[in-house]
Parts: sequence; C-alpha cells; structure tokens
Amino acid sequence: MNGLLQRPIIGGVFGAGRYVLATIPCVMRGLHAVRFMVIEPASGAVLSLADDKVGALDDARAAIRANTLLELQRAQLQGNDPRQVELWPGALFEERPVVDRHRPISKRRRDIYAKCGGRCHYCDTPLQLDGIWHVEHMLPRALGGGDDPANLVAACAPCNLTKSDQTAVEFIVKRRS
Ligand SMILES: [Zn+2]
Repeated sequence: MNGLLQRPIIGGVFGAGRYVLATIPCVMRGLHAVRFMVIEPASGAVLSLADDKVGALDDARAAIRANTLLELQRAQLQGNDPRQVELWPGALFEERPVVDRHRPISKRRRDIYAKCGGRCHYCDTPLQLDGIWHVEHMLPRALGGGDDPANLVAACAPCNLTKSDQTAVEFIVKRRS
C-alpha cells in the first residue's frame, strides 16, 4: 500500500521482531490522518487497529496474551507436560512498567481540556486527557497569537496538523466549504 510505514516491535510480549507496527494514511472527517496497526507479517494477521500508537500496542498486547493463554490450554489438553508450559507464563505475562502512560499532566493542559469539554475544539472528537492531543493557538503564534488561556484550545492531531498557521476562523470556514 502506498505510504505504508512499518517498524518491528521489540520487547515484552511482542518478542524480537515477530510483529511490526504499521502506520496507514487515511482520511478521517475529511482530514488527512494516520492510523496505527500491529501486524504479524509471517502470517498476515492483523492484531489491532487504532487511531493512536498506544492504543494499537495495548490492543495487540491483549490479543497476544489471549492467544498465548489459548495455546497453553491447548498444549495442556493435548497432554503435553504441564511442567514444561508452566515455565512460560512468568516471562510472557510480565507487566511492562506503567510510568510511560501515567506521566503527570500539567495544570494548563487540564484546564484547557476542561474548557473544551474533553473534545477537539474544531471537529468535536472526544479526546482522552492523557491521550495524544494538542494545545492549539486559535490565533497562531505566527500571526501574533499569545499563550494566554483565552487563545488556547484542545485539538485532535489531525485538526492541529491541518490547521497549521490559519486562524481558527479561517480553518473552520475552510473545513465547512
Ligand atoms: Zn479535530
């Protein structure tokens, strides 16, 4: 597929390069965006598809864990020595550190999120407080817009990237036409 980027995922339940993270360009709500998927190239299996990388990796992890459990149960049903398979869960089910997902969120970011009701100011997409969204200058810095709270809103990544140096009004008018 044109524009498909792939990168092997190493570590944790993903092992050493058996799975890859792929990004696919797409159009969401009339805007160019990127979606993320985790695939197993050897089998062609798609483990997850999500709007953000963290979501795609989390879903893929859950799929791999569920599949690993099934394989273990199957091995035990087939009468394989359970002492052999018992060696695996510890290594396979090791939890990754949670620090990366729960980094502190600044008061400014919380305030902007609350002001926008947890949604993108432009397209109304619901945003996750700890997810990937941008603090947006309604009047861009390039046009003299400042950092005062009245000029700042929450925007999803596609809107933020598309809006660029347009003013909020220009952008909204262009999106509607
Ligand atoms: Zn948006």
